[in-house]
Amino acid sequence: NHGHVDTSPSALECARRPDVVSDQAFVTLATNDIYCQGALVLGQSLRNQRLTRKLVVLITPHVSSLLRVILSRVFDEVIEVNLIDSADYIHLAILKRPELGVTLTKLHCWTLTHYSKCVFLDADTLVLSNIDELFERGEFSAAPDPGWPDCFNSGVFVFQPSLETHSLLLQHATDHGSFDGADQGLLNSFFSSWSTADIHKHLPFIYNLSSNTTYTYSPAFKHAKENALRFLLRFGSSAKVVHFLGSSKPWNYKYNPQTGSVLQEGSRVVHQHQASFLNLWWSIYHRSILPLYESLRDEEEHA
Ligand code: UDP
Ligand code: MN
Repeated sequence: NHGHVDTSPSALECARRPDVVSDQAFVTLATNDIYCQGALVLGQSLRNQRLTRKLVVLITPHVSSLLRVILSRVFDEVIEVNLIDSADYIHLAILKRPELGVTLTKLHCWTLTHYSKCVFLDADTLVLSNIDELFERGEFSAAPDPGWPDCFNSGVFVFQPSLETHSLLLQHATDHGSFDGADQGLLNSFFSSWSTADIHKHLPFIYNLSSNTTYTYSPAFKHAKENALRFLLRFGSSAKVVHFLGSSKPWNYKYNPQTGSVLQEGSRVVHQHQASFLNLWWSIYHRSILPLYESLRDEEEHA
């Protein structure tokens, strides 16, 4: 695919667009070069859906200089958060709870106070259609977790940056830790009224659809295959954000660009809807992200 010209808007063009709401942003996090691949595809998937907000990625010092350059071609802001240099209370939180490393990094999104409202998306999510309506929701909005619906899943959430909330969250982390050792447990115990207080803060499941769950909504699946199909068409096809949660991330698969599909390995059973989401992730990676590496290599050769 050499010489392919990517026609999607560059970060620079987007920064010039007048219709962009510049005090609101989509935010993600990548602490290493592997998760950067996810962040890049996520960022591009947002650009592909008429982006009207700023695009921000939080990184840590481990991210290589090559990936920083690539990220800056897709994101408006690449912000390094260095936990070591951070305020004393963060240091303390890390010393007391070393298992919360990545979790505390995610909490840094609350420090983005040059934005009034943001939508956080995990680096292993993929946006399928415009989701600007999420900015009409308040803090803290999230979708139910498929494993335990009284908890929210912390892969997609609406929040309001605030240094005060940030330090309260860190205080909470130092005092109570996290019941799952990660950000989801911590955020659920901090925003503990989520499940009962305000239905507007319950995002529909289509904003955080886990790709690897086999949906067997029994009322529809009990009787006939036909009903199951009708159900999937009704709900599955309206998915707006897919979340590749769990241990097999899209970048762990092999992809055949000729057939446009991921290779299905023997033991790994991939369901049809899951396969199509994986194929979509990889097609964006191939069409829009790999050419960024190539153009950078060309620029270096001509320098
Ligand atoms: N993350 C990261 N580096 C890591 C692990 C996680 O940057 O080594 C970030 C990334 O944004 C990721 C999020 O934290 O999407 C949550 O982790 P993950 O998605 O792996 O958890 P899951 O959604 O599978 O529970
Ligand atoms: Mn995730």
